[in-house]
Amino acid sequence: MIAEVVFYIAFYIIGVVLGSFFTLAIYRIPLKQDILYKRSYCPKCGNKLKSKDLIPILSYLFLKGKCRYCNEKISARYIIIEFFSGLFYLLFVLSLKIDIFSFNVIKIVQLIYGTLIISSFFIIGGIEKETKQLSTGTVIFGIIANIFYMIYLYILGNNIYRYIIYLIIIVTIYILGKILNTQRKIYDISILILFSIIATNEIIFIMSTIVTLFMCFISYFLHKKIINYMFYFSFLNILFIIVFNFVTIM
Ligand SMILES: [Zn+2]
Repeated sequence: MIAEVVFYIAFYIIGVVLGSFFTLAIYRIPLKQDILYKRSYCPKCGNKLKSKDLIPILSYLFLKGKCRYCNEKISARYIIIEFFSGLFYLLFVLSLKIDIFSFNVIKIVQLIYGTLIISSFFIIGGIEKETKQLSTGTVIFGIIANIFYMIYLYILGNNIYRYIIYLIIIVTIYILGKILNTQRKIYDISILILFSIIATNEIIFIMSTIVTLFMCFISYFLHKKIINYMFYFSFLNILFIIVFNFVTIM
C-alpha cells in the first residue's frame, strides 16, 4: 500500500517537473534560446536563479511569489501550470493502467511515447497561445518520437503503412509551405492536424476536432470572434489521449 502511494507520488512529481520544463520551453523556444543547458534567470533583473530557487511549486511558496533579488512578483501562472501538470500526468499514468505490479516493457514504451507526444502538444499549444505561431521544431520533435514508435510497432508485427502515407503527406505539405510561403496559416493547420492523426489516432483526432469546432462556434456566437483554435486543439488532444486510454487499455 505504502509502496503504491510512493509510486504514484513519484509520477505526480515527474509531472510537476515536466510542467516546469514546458513553461520554460514555451518561453524560450520562440526567443531561440537554449532549453536544456542555459540556467534559469529572472526575466526582470536578469539574475541567475540558485538551485534552491528552481524547485517547482516549493520555491515559489518559500519566496512568497517574489524574485529573491529584485522583489518582482512571479506570475502565479507558473505554480498553477505545475500543479495541474502533475495532476494530469498522474491521470495519464493511471489511464495506461500502470501500477507497481504491471510495470513491464510494453507499459514503459507506452509511457515514454505518450509522455513525448503529450509534451509536444503541450509546448505546441503554449507557443501557439503566446506567439500565434506553430512551433515547427516541436512538431518535428514529435514526429521523430512517432517514427521511433512506429519502428517499434513494426518490429512487434503491426501494419504501419497507414502511418507512412500520413508521414509522406505531412512532409509534402511542409515542403510546399516552405516553397510557396503564402497563407502560412493553412499549412500550419494542415501540419498540426496530420500530426494529431499520426501521433495519436483517428478517433482522438476526430474528437479533438469536433470539440474545437464546437468551441469556435460557441465563441463566435457569444463574442463574435474566433478563439485561438490551434491552442485549444493541442490541449484537447492531450485530454482525449487520457480519456481514450482509460476506455481502451485493459
Ligand atoms: Zn529579479
